[in-house]
Amino acid sequence: MLTIFGTIALDTTRTPFHTVERTLGGTATFASISASNYVPTSLLGTVGHDFPAAYLELLKNRLNIRGLTISQTEKTFHYDSSFGFDLAKRTTNKTELNVIANYQSTIPDDYIDSEYVYLANNDPVQNMNILKLFSGPKLVICDTMDFWIVNKRDDVIKMIKKVDGIMLNESEAKLLFKENNILKCARLLVSNGPAFAVINKGENGSLLFHNDEFFPIAAYPTEIIKDPTGAGDSFGGAFTGYLSQQEKWDLKTLKNAMIHGNIMGSFAIEDYGVEKLANINAEDIQKRYQKYKEILTF
Ligand code: AMP
Repeated sequence: MLTIFGTIALDTTRTPFHTVERTLGGTATFASISASNYVPTSLLGTVGHDFPAAYLELLKNRLNIRGLTISQTEKTFHYDSSFGFDLAKRTTNKTELNVIANYQSTIPDDYIDSEYVYLANNDPVQNMNILKLFSGPKLVICDTMDFWIVNKRDDVIKMIKKVDGIMLNESEAKLLFKENNILKCARLLVSNGPAFAVINKGENGSLLFHNDEFFPIAAYPTEIIKDPTGAGDSFGGAFTGYLSQQEKWDLKTLKNAMIHGNIMGSFAIEDYGVEKLANINAEDIQKRYQKYKEILTF
């Protein structure tokens, strides 16, 4: 079983073309919806009393949500961000931790034996506490972002030491190590313990580093970009979901997981929030997989 822990959020996203307020978002949301296309996925996290019933229903229809707690006293995590005309660089306006600030690490009994765990971007201390509650996962992958690198860098490094794979975006990798070359960043990530590292470069693709080998790959080209929020999480969910489905993580399987990560990331950005991601099927993924293969073969 694959369990995904992270934020389940209400996102306010502002672009020069459109603003969406308090729409369903969060790292665990994007990652688990994406992963559920590959394996049954269990969600772990918390929301507040203001979390809309329709969003709860959407999650319940695709995921095991026994690990989702609903606070009667606190509000849902809220993230407010803006993109400029290039729809590439994001500025954080507000991060309201709300219910996640006091999250008590607990997992339902049927999650304990999870063989696969994805720690989507979240407080690294909470991530490490959660990890202790599983009986012995075969594969643990984590993500992180600037907010945690800036506020809890030492804990981010401690967390990286406890996982098999680490995934983060280019600017975060550079920020973490104060290093501007991403190949060096990838080596530094792996030197801290994980067997592999994935660095995402948005529209410029992504890079896998494993066993001293680099695998750079172009992003799936899509002409529709409405909202890049959640691209990295959707990538991470698909990547981990694919490895869980294949039950192996040798270089060839990791490369294929990169393809699936890019495909799901490309779907995520084509509409606001989870709108597109939650409305695609296996055939859509397969079509994009075939097209991607053609593009990458010459
Ligand atoms: P990304 O894949 O990097 O675009 O992730 C976007 C998601 O991250 C949004 O849906 C936010 O709700 C969530 N988010 C933003 N800031 C944080 C944070 N500090 N910790 C955890 N999740 C966050």
